[in-house]
Amino acid sequence: MKLIFLGPPGAGKGTQAVKIAERFGIAHISTGDMLRAEMREGTELGNAAKDLIERGELVPDDVILGMVKNRIRQDDCKNGFLFDGFPRTIAQAEALEAISPIDHVINLEVPVERLISRISGRRMCPDCGAAYHVSKHPDARCDCGSTLYQREDDKEETVRNRLVVYERSTKPLIEYYANKGLLHSVNGDADVDVVDAEIRAVISK
Ligand code: AMP
Repeated sequence: MKLIFLGPPGAGKGTQAVKIAERFGIAHISTGDMLRAEMREGTELGNAAKDLIERGELVPDDVILGMVKNRIRQDDCKNGFLFDGFPRTIAQAEALEAISPIDHVINLEVPVERLISRISGRRMCPDCGAAYHVSKHPDARCDCGSTLYQREDDKEETVRNRLVVYERSTKPLIEYYANKGLLHSVNGDADVDVVDAEIRAVISK
């Protein structure tokens, strides 16, 4: 099974992707996580992407496509994969079409005002990548024991730019995939398990 999770920053793509990938035994491919790993390791790619990411801009399509092509060749992608945060432009979607067919595109819908409060309260684990909301984890500790941190690009000013970039570059993908008959919109503004159940129902149809 090959899936794409679409949606603005803060829609819950990462949280839902972990659950669905585990349930269906497919690889969870987050291009954002891959870029953050490159930044942590201080690679050439990571250093080149850092400034763009911290300003809330997109990393160039050719860089992302190179990463994705390598990633889907790996063994854990044999049963399929779930893209979280990719594609983010029409050019990326067109390039993906030449690489692999896709079964379903899930579009998570959440009102803008909820996105800002979700993202600005988001705290991440530097080790396992889990995401929490500060209101539920005021001690800033991950279940794995590490101290949570706030992503540089989750600070409010950058979040606003990420939303502008989403509207301009990524939102057109909704129509793109609707025209291909692949799009399923799901209300992402509900309890995590309710959203998960709705996604599963859509995929299993
Ligand atoms: P995310 O973790 O998906 O919110 O991604 C964090 C940041 O990484 C984005 O704001 C972009 O700067 C960059 N990024 C992640 N995925 C892509 C992509 N598919 N195309 C371009 N930039 C990306």
